[in-house]
Amino acid sequence: MTAVEEFKSSLRGYLLRPGDTAYDEARKLWNGMFDRRPAMIVRCAGAADVIGAVKVARRDGLRVAVRGGGHSFPGHSVCDEGLVIDLSCMKAIRVDPGARTARAQAGVKWIEFDQETQAFGLATTGGTVSDTGIAGLTLGGGLGWLSGKYGLTIDNLISADVVVADGRLLTASPSQNQDLFWGLRGGSGNFGVVTSFKYHLHAVGPTVLAGMVIYPLAKIKEVLRFYRDFSKAAPDDLTTYAGIFNPPNGDTVVALICCYCGPLDKGDAVIHPLRSLGSPVQDMLGPTAYVAHQRMFDPAFPTGSCYYTKAAFLTDLVDNAIEVFAEYAATKPSPLSGVLVQTVCGAASRVASDEMAFPHRAFPYAPVIVSQWTNPAEAEKNISWARSFSNALQPFASGGAYVNDLGQDDEDRVRVAYGGNYERLAALKKKYDPENIFCLNPNIKPGS
Ligand SMILES: Cc1cc2nc3c(=O)[nH]c(=O)nc-3n(C[C@H](O)[C@H](O)[C@H](O)COP(=O)(O)OP(=O)(O)OC[C@H]3O[C@@H](n4cnc5c(N)ncnc54)[C@H](O)[C@@H]3O)c2cc1C
Repeated sequence: MTAVEEFKSSLRGYLLRPGDTAYDEARKLWNGMFDRRPAMIVRCAGAADVIGAVKVARRDGLRVAVRGGGHSFPGHSVCDEGLVIDLSCMKAIRVDPGARTARAQAGVKWIEFDQETQAFGLATTGGTVSDTGIAGLTLGGGLGWLSGKYGLTIDNLISADVVVADGRLLTASPSQNQDLFWGLRGGSGNFGVVTSFKYHLHAVGPTVLAGMVIYPLAKIKEVLRFYRDFSKAAPDDLTTYAGIFNPPNGDTVVALICCYCGPLDKGDAVIHPLRSLGSPVQDMLGPTAYVAHQRMFDPAFPTGSCYYTKAAFLTDLVDNAIEVFAEYAATKPSPLSGVLVQTVCGAASRVASDEMAFPHRAFPYAPVIVSQWTNPAEAEKNISWARSFSNALQPFASGGAYVNDLGQDDEDRVRVAYGGNYERLAALKKKYDPENIFCLNPNIKPGS
């Protein structure tokens, strides 16, 4: 028996290699820009398979990619030649309604998590596109519609089980391996393969006041100025983003998008100002199922399109920055491209920047510029629009970036994404992954 056959027979899940029927489907990512051919894809059934895969990769010096929901913007979750540790079949979720907690395995997507937790009227902060994975999103921080009230996803993390580089499975929590727990909350996939996460849940919905008010592009400056002032003063129950996009077959618009998760009878007055700017193209604000709101953006981000992103943190949305948004909104080369301005607001902003690895608590606005196209010949103009837009925003940027929204950025940009926590993260990397076998991520180099 060859070493590969021996490895294959040791798995509870299965091993895919070039030529296997499911191989081509399994190596596809959400971002169609990447067409990589790993030597092996291990579709893990549980922690034992993850441990086996990490040990084989280390023994054979294989490049390792780790895949949760497969939505890495820069395509980190598949590699050429090496081994993909694919967690997408690990889907168990257990909600404890009494304790208001949920444990979920690392292949779970937000649609699945939300559906299970909402059966009990519970939720935690999660991504705003339901097809994204809980794993990658949690490990980078986790901005979502509940951030204002309940903080980032990592602010709700109780513990995680992690297979570290030497193949040990460790639990990281406030009482076990505390340093690892600190690093997992914003340090991306640098410290090992998380097999399951345990989260705090909160009473949410099932009906929330949410949706968007869409205004014509001609009003963009007025809308963004309103957004700046309104989002700063908003109560924690309300999280508001601004978006620039094209509705299907429509002209470019600017929208105020929100989720109010407080008492419904008080919500109308809170969200009313969002519709006060006059002459909207469409007013889609109202009582909505929380799970429906979590799926609202799904059609805009189909699997298989090509995507290129640029992200920044702005300390404020000053008028000159708004001019930049207006200029680039008007010159979008693809109707599929757009910008979402998220906020690190309310509870998410009231955590010290060194309390966990995610450092950017004091920067309220987090624009993510997303270029999307389907014809490969259009790559250059779309990439250059995003780059040039991002460069034009630099004078107003804090210097930091949200690690989960990084695109194919250079090492310097990755470093600033970890801000003042980088050195502590590098020391932790040396402790848990001294050979940097988990290097396909916004990578932290092991400290000296
Ligand atoms: C359409 C879209 C919408 C998004 N919306 C939001 C949003 O609302 N809020 C937000 O905060 N972010 C958002 N993001 C960014 C998102 O958080 C990241 O893309 C995240 O990495 C996706 O996680 P994943 O598990 O789907 O991705 P994957 O591609 O599977 O993983 C990404 C990386 O995370 C690491 N990783 C994944 N699983 C594990 C694991 N189990 N153990 C260790 N490392 C692991 C690996 O380094 C991997 O390369 C969005 C992204 C997209 C594409």
